Amino acid sequence: MSAPPSTRRGLILVIASPSGAGKSTLSRNLLQAEEGALSLSVSVTTRARRPSEIDGVHYKFLTVRDFERLRDQGDLLEWAEVHGNFYGTPRTPVEEALTAGRDVLFDIDVQGTMQVYEAMREDVASVFILPPSIAELERRLHRRAEDDDATIRRRLRGAKAEIACWNRFDYVLINDDLDRAFQDLRAILRAERLKRERSSSLEGFVGDLVRDLDTVVTRA
Ligand code: ADP
Ligand code: 5GP
Repeated sequence: MSAPPSTRRGLILVIASPSGAGKSTLSRNLLQAEEGALSLSVSVTTRARRPSEIDGVHYKFLTVRDFERLRDQGDLLEWAEVHGNFYGTPRTPVEEALTAGRDVLFDIDVQGTMQVYEAMREDVASVFILPPSIAELERRLHRRAEDDDATIRRRLRGAKAEIACWNRFDYVLINDDLDRAFQDLRAILRAERLKRERSSSLEGFVGDLVRDLDTVVTRA
């Protein structure tokens, strides 16, 4: 008898953080390293597109009216208003991926994370990213140079409420050294994939082991 191929339901890896802590950088690096084994859930948003962003890749950019239509039809797994804009996760692609055993990365805020917990807690592993200091958080927001000063101030104000939710997450990483934080994130994903509850082949495999053991013991 040889070990069965692992069959399991996909998992949702939620990464949340106050804006600027490095969540997008870590997510991007993880998606690259996982090469197709993990895909990003592309959110819909009413926020204006940043120059570096591609519609349909980073977000699907919608009018408020279109967003509200999706939300009211129940097509969003979760949604939230963040920094004055709407964001939401389309439901169908996620459900299809999990059923097919593929893992999905969610880059969402704390409010959205709580909604996903309510809907499907057992499918979720959540990671909260903290900056090493507030001075460094501010530096990173300025260094990113994607937002104007007013937007950065709004994001820093929002950081207080977000950081207060750190203990609602399964794992907390302090993103000081990027490489170290990335290695820790990969270790989390690897361990979460191996969780007993996620394996659908294990029960049968153990049943076979026990049956074979009974045979051997009876023969002895
Ligand atoms: P978030 O997605 O959390 O808003 P980003 O990933 O866009 O944050 O990171 C904000 C800025 O900080 C980017 O310019 C990024 O390159 C930089 N950054 C991310 N992690 C680190 C780190 N560990 N050390 C230094 N700079 C970092
Ligand atoms: P940004 O505008 O910087 O891309 O994102 C702002 C915040 O919105 C981030 O904390 C990001 O994680 C969050 N966000 C992005 N997409 C979603 C989503 O689909 N749902 C929720 N709840 N938050 C999201």
